[in-house]
Amino acid sequence: MFELIFLGTSASAPSIRRNLPATMVLHKEYRFLIDCGEGTQRQLLRSGLGFKRLDKILLTHGHLDHILGLGGLVSTFSRWEAIPKLEIYGGTWALERVSDLIFGVVFRGVKPPLQIDLIPIEPGVLMEDDTFQLSAFTVIHRGPGCLGFTFREKEKRPFLLDKAEALGVPAGPERGRLVRGEMVTLADGTVVHPDQVLGPPVPGAKLVFVGDAARINNLVEVASSADALVIEATYLSKEGEMAREYGHLTAAEAATLAHQAGVRQLYLTHISRRYAEEAVLAEAQAIFPQTVVVRDLDHFRIIKEKAAS
Ligand SMILES: [Zn+2]
Ligand SMILES: [Zn+2]
Repeated sequence: MFELIFLGTSASAPSIRRNLPATMVLHKEYRFLIDCGEGTQRQLLRSGLGFKRLDKILLTHGHLDHILGLGGLVSTFSRWEAIPKLEIYGGTWALERVSDLIFGVVFRGVKPPLQIDLIPIEPGVLMEDDTFQLSAFTVIHRGPGCLGFTFREKEKRPFLLDKAEALGVPAGPERGRLVRGEMVTLADGTVVHPDQVLGPPVPGAKLVFVGDAARINNLVEVASSADALVIEATYLSKEGEMAREYGHLTAAEAATLAHQAGVRQLYLTHISRRYAEEAVLAEAQAIFPQTVVVRDLDHFRIIKEKAAS
């Protein structure tokens, strides 16, 4: 299960109701802040998330509406918060701008009181553990090294208790070893293979996060069968020319991607002040009904829907 909290949902400039882009993804002990538009620190407080354990920030790209909040955030961390280390992941171009902002402005001429690691990333797996994997993929927008992120629970094979008991596997470490895929020999000499006590693999939840994007054709595969797809919808089709010019998507294009990729739920963000939310929703839902136009502080739980049986 992933929790998805939208902290800012506006495109390029804030509106009365919408702050600049920032989204939190929570999974187990992990907290990932994706992008950090101006004013994100106040949105973190308003959301109730606060700053605790906020030590990993992922950047989709280096445009100012997605990074300017980092200046204020690290300044606050350096004065008030007991956060010893902050890791900021992004493409090289985004990190160059962030480096200028943090080390050339906020901490100009002084040693930062907390460790700030700027970690350049490329498409591929960024981190994983036994049950979870985070990976990055290429997004075409404006500027080099724009990225999207896939959060995925690894598939797992359920432990079949009735089978284990029938085979005489006692409660205890033997069961753990079988779950990890190891063969065990019981006290009476019986050898039990994991396949005897594990069911077929059950897929986990998949959350795909795309920031600003100019094209959808290169995203169909990465978004395939996602339980949730988060993506921008900066323009409506009537201004498709402007969308092309600035490297953004229309609501219809975002919905077309969701449809082509067979996702379960589409979350549209990066909403322009020029449109009413209803118009964005109507254009997308005409193509992909399972669409939400998200608002600041919206909170969703992303789970793997059980297959119909
Ligand atoms: Zn943007
Ligand atoms: Zn952008």
